[in-house]
Amino acid sequence: MTEVVAKTNLLDLDREGMERFFAETLGEKRFRAHQVMKWIYHQHVTDFAQMTDVGKALRAKLEAHAEIRPPSVQFDKPSADGTHKWLLGMDSGNAIETVFIPDKGRGTLCVSSQVGCGLNCQFCSTATQGFNRNLSTAEIIGQVWVASKHLGNKTHLHRKLTNVVMMGMGEPLLNFDNVVRAMNLMRDDLGFGLANKRVTLSTAGLVPMIDRLGEESDVSLAVSLHAPNDELRTQLVPLNKKYPIAELMAACVRYLQRRKKGESITFEYTLMKGVNDTPEIARQLARLMKQFCNQVQYSEAGKVNLIPFNPFPGTRFERSDEATIRAFQKILLDAGVLTMVRRTRGDDIDAACGQLKGQVMDRTRRQAEFKRKLEEKGVSDAA
Ligand code: SAH
Repeated sequence: MTEVVAKTNLLDLDREGMERFFAETLGEKRFRAHQVMKWIYHQHVTDFAQMTDVGKALRAKLEAHAEIRPPSVQFDKPSADGTHKWLLGMDSGNAIETVFIPDKGRGTLCVSSQVGCGLNCQFCSTATQGFNRNLSTAEIIGQVWVASKHLGNKTHLHRKLTNVVMMGMGEPLLNFDNVVRAMNLMRDDLGFGLANKRVTLSTAGLVPMIDRLGEESDVSLAVSLHAPNDELRTQLVPLNKKYPIAELMAACVRYLQRRKKGESITFEYTLMKGVNDTPEIARQLARLMKQFCNQVQYSEAGKVNLIPFNPFPGTRFERSDEATIRAFQKILLDAGVLTMVRRTRGDDIDAACGQLKGQVMDRTRRQAEFKRKLEEKGVSDAA
């Protein structure tokens, strides 16, 4: 009987992993690994036969032991404002979403890290889908690969994809190893060659993992804050019960202390009408930010990114009024806190923050519970 050996998907390996695979499995030198990486990430080639500077013997070995298998595109959809969304099939029944957002001089790709999410933030559509599993390294970097190929992106030459934010579906710090490996490929010259600060990981606030990220990687950090006091934050982000604001902010201080001076953390703050958008709460947030900047000893250490809430079927929250958003921003600006309002893009294709859903075979039964609640409220279209 012939033994069937599973082929290694090369998209699962960062540079170190590729070098090891070439040495240990193929008995080849590292520069061969580098050549193949360039074909994959700079030329978007998945067929070893097209790698013209790779000799026949090595191509045969690669055919036998390896494959280059990006996620399959189930459909892709352009938005009127230039935003583009892909639904990528993962395995039977599961699919995740990736969104490209072009803006003056830059192109940002919003990448998912898990199929669904287990954190249950009350105002996020992904949460209603429940959780299925972590994405592999190949499935994470594969999202960048698919978008880069579609856009005709040329690493180092003609860059259309300039930034990646890990702000799609899932909590990236709960899939630490695969996310870090994929972020290595995003920043590697043999990969997509993005600068460190152009790759941003966004977290709901897993304190121990923020520390680990600070030790092991070198990317920008964004933290989903959404409330300046524990009582309110625990209601919105249940994870706050485990890691309250004081511990979260202390981890953020430690993160910046490990980085070069002049770097900052972005605090995301989704504005929901009558929930977290009052002047009093804005003042509390301003105090929290000032305190943070003082601790880091850098006046621009914390930036606030206000995100007007994006509604989805069945949600009990509403977007704050424009005047309230402006007033909230003004209080922060007047207190000397750098504050931006993130303008919603791609909402005609449900591609805005918190609207990514994909298709999740839920293992938490949260989806069933959410559908039941919707039915109680008389909302029929839960899909
Ligand atoms: N789990 C990570 C990555 C998700 S990032 C995190 O929590 O940071 C997505 C960002 O959009 C987060 O800041 C999230 O809190 C915010 N968000 C979620 N639902 C939203 C909604 N309906 N409207 C606006 N922003 C939302």
